[in-house]
Amino acid sequence: MSNAPKRYGFETLAVHAGATPDPTTGARNTPIYQTVSYVYDSADHAASLFNLQTYGFIYSRITNPTVSVLEERVAALEDGRAAVAAASGHAAQFLAFFSILEPGDSFVASQNLYGGSVTQFGHSFKRLGWNVRFVDPTDPENFRAAIGSDTKAIFIEALSNPGGVIVDVEAVAAVAHQAGIPLIVDNTLASPYLLRPFDWGADLVIHSTTKYLSGHGTSMGGIVVDSGRFDWGASDKFPGLTKPDPAYHGLAFWETFGDLGYAMKTRAVGLRDFGPAMAPMNAFLTITGIETLPLRMDRHIANAQAVAEFLTRHPAVAWVSYAGLETSPFHALARKYLPKGPGAVFTCGLKGGYDAGVKLVEACELFSHLANVGDTRSLILHPASTTHRQLTDAQRVKAGAGPDVIRLSIGIETADDLIRDLADGLAAATR
Ligand SMILES: *Cc1c(COP(=O)(O)O)cnc(C)c1O
Repeated sequence: MSNAPKRYGFETLAVHAGATPDPTTGARNTPIYQTVSYVYDSADHAASLFNLQTYGFIYSRITNPTVSVLEERVAALEDGRAAVAAASGHAAQFLAFFSILEPGDSFVASQNLYGGSVTQFGHSFKRLGWNVRFVDPTDPENFRAAIGSDTKAIFIEALSNPGGVIVDVEAVAAVAHQAGIPLIVDNTLASPYLLRPFDWGADLVIHSTTKYLSGHGTSMGGIVVDSGRFDWGASDKFPGLTKPDPAYHGLAFWETFGDLGYAMKTRAVGLRDFGPAMAPMNAFLTITGIETLPLRMDRHIANAQAVAEFLTRHPAVAWVSYAGLETSPFHALARKYLPKGPGAVFTCGLKGGYDAGVKLVEACELFSHLANVGDTRSLILHPASTTHRQLTDAQRVKAGAGPDVIRLSIGIETADDLIRDLADGLAAATR
């Protein structure tokens, strides 16, 4: 037997990482620690917990044993150093930026993002003095051109929602690092089973765990994963990590905790002071969901490919934007970054435009008309009349959500049933 540390495969980590049988009861599944607080061993123990000298549980806004298992599991699946879970994907995005931005700072983001992220960044973040510049992500040089002296990060969805755009992660990471700033990747639509952004140079990963990680459409959640590899101390750009933090009795997170410094700051200041903690019940459901992530993703992808091929042959459909099709301009990037398959959320355009889109979503029976992705169930949405409604026409088209666009999130049902449902719906939409 070798003494080398065991390196488990992805499927093994998906079932086991971060979890051991409960030490007091032997419970094999991770219990739902539905508790707010934890008894200290002694006054000294309490003091060292509050000083962050001992790792342990204080109060469930900051740490909770069920949530910790989820954090360790996702960190393992992304091959990251540490993770901090949050109440939703948007909460995770807020926390990720809070640790690195000062008022007046900016970041550069891909314009092809989840509609809610465009609104969060473009409007609500602005109120905090955090400014975003959106760029077309299909040319990595666009990011370089938008970086200024106040720019502290680049943010992309490597596989974007809903446009089906795939970003050249390695090239964008190089641009970020030349500027001395981290690349943050929202990896929600790919999941770590299909893409591990850290393998390509990303520094932080965000997930809406609400989607594929939880997988069953039961639980809101988000997580920030740190690779532990970005050198926050290489410049004076990140005083929130490198300078003594008045919000934590003068602690300098980067100097004190090194490659755990970013995660510690995000938890001990971000989660503590803003409070968007994940509920233990949601962490439990998400842990359980992750156990079948590889199996589900394989089926999601096979079904997505079958449905996309059906749609390309349908006379009512003008175009299909799925990187699994050889006609996709992103096919080559998909083969590089997503060799197992380019996810299961994609868009198509209806020749009948806005009206046909509205009719199709109403006519489908198996596809649920709702705003979510990454569920075991197949979902259909007309972004222009729903999720992207708040954007201007120009913003909608830029985000890949024009009037004719239908977004599909292909589930794990029988592929033929999904195809029949869409065929019936398209017949009704063109009648
Ligand atoms: C859903 C989603 C989000 C936001 O996550 P919530 O859990 O809904 O807050 C962010 N990014 C992407 C790509 C998403 O699909």
